[in-house]
Amino acid sequence: MPIKFEKVTYEYPAEENAVVAVKDVSLEIADGSFVCICGENGSGKSTLAMLMNGLLQPTSGAVTVDGKTTSTEEEEELFAIRQKVGMVFQNPDNQMIASIIEDEIAFGPENLGVPREEIGERIDYALSAVGMTEHRRHTPYKLSGGQKQRIAIAAVLAMRPEVLVLDESTAMLDPKGRGEVLKVAEELNKQGITIVLITHFMEEATRADRVIVMSEGKVVMDGTPEQVFRDRESIERYGLELPAPDAVAAELIKEGIPLEDKIYSESELAEAICRLK
Ligand code: ADP
Ligand code: MG
Repeated sequence: MPIKFEKVTYEYPAEENAVVAVKDVSLEIADGSFVCICGENGSGKSTLAMLMNGLLQPTSGAVTVDGKTTSTEEEEELFAIRQKVGMVFQNPDNQMIASIIEDEIAFGPENLGVPREEIGERIDYALSAVGMTEHRRHTPYKLSGGQKQRIAIAAVLAMRPEVLVLDESTAMLDPKGRGEVLKVAEELNKQGITIVLITHFMEEATRADRVIVMSEGKVVMDGTPEQVFRDRESIERYGLELPAPDAVAAELIKEGIPLEDKIYSESELAEAICRLK
């Protein structure tokens, strides 16, 4: 069980009106799972993400990663936790430091004290995992947004994480770039890396094993995509939208078209409509 939250509350310190961003959250992220976290702006998703790897420490309650608490003052322990739970953020441009891609990827392992020879292997592995091998000696500035996010993922992969947290990492990308990043996330998950994907694109959430919905700092829904998106009333109440094919299916069902009440992918819905008599 890599990540466990027990009654976790996080309050941003402020002179006045401290904001309680995460309220009494208990959850476990199972090894090897693909979890999506959804919720309106300000619902506490990023705060929850930063609590997962010790970038933030709970005000009360406990977060453990592989049984180790993130509420430690020991730099080394925190470093180990951050290596296990890697994070990729929204804006790819804020995450690039080096002017050559391989240096960008080497940065993490160098900090971990990984020997030179092995750093080369890790760069090979990380770039190939995100399909960017041929860009090894290029500058990151000319890449598309999707490619930049793949490099940001590679930089995390070079530290050999167990969990990859993507905090709205597809939000600034065009549909092609979003597709690229999602494909990489799915591929890594197949290889055993746990994925926590924070997104406001509901189609992405339907690819997950589990969808967690946050509202006002609390976990308000938690289940399979079917369970969560079937509860259309709650989806609306928490300010979310149905995945596009599902929204279309819901409208058709309302019009009396005899479609099965389930979660459709685009192609499944197209096929189901073609089969209608
Ligand atoms: P989300 O990622 O779902 O948009 P956040 O975790 O960023 O939500 O924010 C949750 C709440 O915490 C919001 O009310 C937000 O305004 C507040 N918040 C976020 N970051 C800070 C900060 N650095 N200082 C004070 N309040 C913050
Ligand atoms: Mg956020």
